Amino acid sequence: MAWDFSTEPEFQAQLDWMRDFVREEIWPTEVLELDQPQLERLLAPLQERVKERGLWAAHLPPELGGQGFGQVKLGLMHEILGTSPLAPVAFGNQAPDSGNSEILALVGTPEQQERWLHPLLAGELHSAFSMTEPGSAGSDPTLLETRAVPDGDGWVINGHKWFSSNGSIADFLIVMAVTDPEARPHQRASMFIVPVDTPGVEIVRDVPTMEHPQEEYGRIGGHAEIVYRDVRVGPDALLGTQGAGFLIAQHRLGPGRIHHCMRWLGVSRRAFDMLCERSLTRVSHGSVLAEKQTIQNWIADSAAEMQAARLMTLQAAWMIDAEGPGAARKEISLIKFYGARVLHDVIDRALQAHGALGYSTDLPLERMYRFARAARLYDGPDEVHRATVARQILRGYEAPPDGVPSEHVPTRRDAARLKFAELLEAVTQND
Ligand SMILES: Cc1cc2nc3c(=O)[nH]c(=O)nc-3n(C[C@H](O)[C@H](O)[C@H](O)COP(=O)(O)OP(=O)(O)OC[C@H]3O[C@@H](n4cnc5c(N)ncnc54)[C@H](O)[C@@H]3O)c2cc1C
Repeated sequence: MAWDFSTEPEFQAQLDWMRDFVREEIWPTEVLELDQPQLERLLAPLQERVKERGLWAAHLPPELGGQGFGQVKLGLMHEILGTSPLAPVAFGNQAPDSGNSEILALVGTPEQQERWLHPLLAGELHSAFSMTEPGSAGSDPTLLETRAVPDGDGWVINGHKWFSSNGSIADFLIVMAVTDPEARPHQRASMFIVPVDTPGVEIVRDVPTMEHPQEEYGRIGGHAEIVYRDVRVGPDALLGTQGAGFLIAQHRLGPGRIHHCMRWLGVSRRAFDMLCERSLTRVSHGSVLAEKQTIQNWIADSAAEMQAARLMTLQAAWMIDAEGPGAARKEISLIKFYGARVLHDVIDRALQAHGALGYSTDLPLERMYRFARAARLYDGPDEVHRATVARQILRGYEAPPDGVPSEHVPTRRDAARLKFAELLEAVTQND
């Protein structure tokens, strides 16, 4: 009977080290007002300490300089890394570089790995994942319009993308483009490595967003709009096989959603701690907030929801480790929309409990709140994940004959009378 929620002591020691390190060394760097190159210089010695501890780029297999941990351990790590937007950078697994390095590790040729993956892991390069388009619904990527057409031994790419996170600081882009328009919908697209200085790549702007309303071009975490105009790449740009774009995306996005959800729990926990702390000090109408039932409900509901999201996410991670991302499709979709809601609700309560202070930039809650809103959109909007869950669940059901609900009491009574006719006669004989 294997049903075990414990963490092995050696790994627990690593998690304890991480928790202290992130809190003591990374949290303070959040409030320094540094530009990108200054921040990178500041984080460099911290990255060395992570490497010495054997925790660098833990999402990759050991032969590529990673730790080969599996999703449960990675999930537990990401819960700690999620507490600070800078922690993933210090640990060599910040999005989108982490997902892109997974793609290169999974399907990259030795030459592609040598040229792109190793420098990416060494922190010498930045990358972006360029799939979503302003002109087609990202929630249904079979509608992609960007085309890659064979040209000599290479390809010519034309299209218009946006929300390519980190696109304006990237050295190369992983671009999803239609190569086989007549093939079955999920075999139409392929992925290409496009160096950002290839003629025809135009980084138009970083799109101002709720997260960064005053967008500055070329900052980490910006979401780039990019036009690809007759962009010619060689045969070595194709990742994996032609038509395998969706298959590769699925491999990248499944585990990536576990990491997102665990990072969200890290953020939620930080907001929750602020909620609890504030409730002990703020006095209103004769008592501290901690004595008001509404606040107690917020604390209890938040604790229950975070616990539920955590167990659901770790169980999905365990399924991926045991059977692969394909087997955990329903579980991954469940946590994606449920985790995003928990993230939002916990932050919202913490912000509300702080009143005007919560709304101000004197606390990180307003930033967390804006961050939380995006979680309901990226890597698939809530509605699409709910539809996936419902479809998977409904596969286990059949419509009842004649449309009569199988629990319909009069129908069941008739059937039971038939089934037990002899027995009924015997037991009711003397009545
Ligand atoms: C912060 C952030 C970072 C991002 N980073 C990247 C990145 O690095 N690379 C990249 O390629 N993309 C990125 N994206 C884009 C993201 O993947 C898309 O926004 C997402 O896939 C949704 O696509 P869309 O915006 O085109 O919305 P649409 O597909 O137009 O959907 C809009 C809305 O329609 C509704 N809807 C759609 N389908 C259904 C359905 N079946 N049932 C019910 N309702 C439905 C939903 O409410 C949905 O929110 C990022 C987005 C954000 C917000």
